[in-house]
Amino acid sequence: MPFNRLQILLFIACLHSLSWNDSAINRVHAQEVTVVILGNAQDAGFPQANCRKDCCKRAWQTPSDRRFATCIAILDAKAGKRFLFECTPHFPDQLHLLNRISTEQGLPTETLDGIFLTHAHIGHYAGLVHLGREVMGTKSVPVHVMPRMRNFLISNGPWSQLVQLKNITLHKLLDRTEKQMGNIRVTPILVPHRDEFSETVGFRVQGPNRSLLFLPDIDKWEKWNLNINKEIAKVDIALVDGTFFGEGELPGRNMKEIPHPFIQESLQRFEDLPGSEKEKIHFIHFNHTNPVLQNGSSARKKILDAGFRIARQAQTIRL
Ligand SMILES: [Zn+2]
Ligand SMILES: [Zn+2]
Ligand SMILES: [Zn+2]
Repeated sequence: MPFNRLQILLFIACLHSLSWNDSAINRVHAQEVTVVILGNAQDAGFPQANCRKDCCKRAWQTPSDRRFATCIAILDAKAGKRFLFECTPHFPDQLHLLNRISTEQGLPTETLDGIFLTHAHIGHYAGLVHLGREVMGTKSVPVHVMPRMRNFLISNGPWSQLVQLKNITLHKLLDRTEKQMGNIRVTPILVPHRDEFSETVGFRVQGPNRSLLFLPDIDKWEKWNLNINKEIAKVDIALVDGTFFGEGELPGRNMKEIPHPFIQESLQRFEDLPGSEKEKIHFIHFNHTNPVLQNGSSARKKILDAGFRIARQAQTIRL
């Protein structure tokens, strides 16, 4: 039976919709505030330097399986502004990815309107070196930091040179004090973590319609003076520390020295929450050993079957 014109057009439309990817969704969301996940791995990225074990084997062979250190961007299409949360060792690739998505949204790609940093562990700020004289030579990019983090950057090279040459300008954040930036409001919240060089914060970001909690690094939930369940109740999306899946993940290493809430502990803690709360929770900041990074793993299935989510690199979320 010959197809009529309408049937052919419908068929083409279906094919087109099957090929829709994040970028197509981005175009639909132009003029809005969007969160872009630019990386979901722990500080070292995936695969990790010199790891020859099974966890990283496939990612060394298949570049598309690699993941950058945890970082998000917020695109405010209305105000024409772009903000980064974290500046990781994978900054060159992440800025490239951000520029591609910005272009699709009609946003300028020349400037960064601000960088918010959680703390001074390498995966969260070391990418700042690319703003310096040897690379981009930026002019006064605003970097928003807590007081100890600020002193750390001012007092230690090579970061101090970025400040002296005015590649970056430091703007002070205060615990639980909100800052308005275009159409978003950003609030840092102190969290317990191994604070060798700086304090550590998570961020709550309020957009025009929805709000986000960004909490990539924290010691155990029980050590926090705030209740994570209550903090999740205050927002619409929560990106939370999922560094390790469970005990014994680092053979030969005392995992008490590098405490994080194991995903298995979090699944238990959150198990009685209603489905509407569970689906807010996106795990992020995965160590290379975390089975969540392996396609089709039972760890992934366990999280998703229980009603939780796993943050994806290049994922976009409306705020
Ligand atoms: Zn980290
Ligand atoms: Zn590995
Ligand atoms: Zn850390």
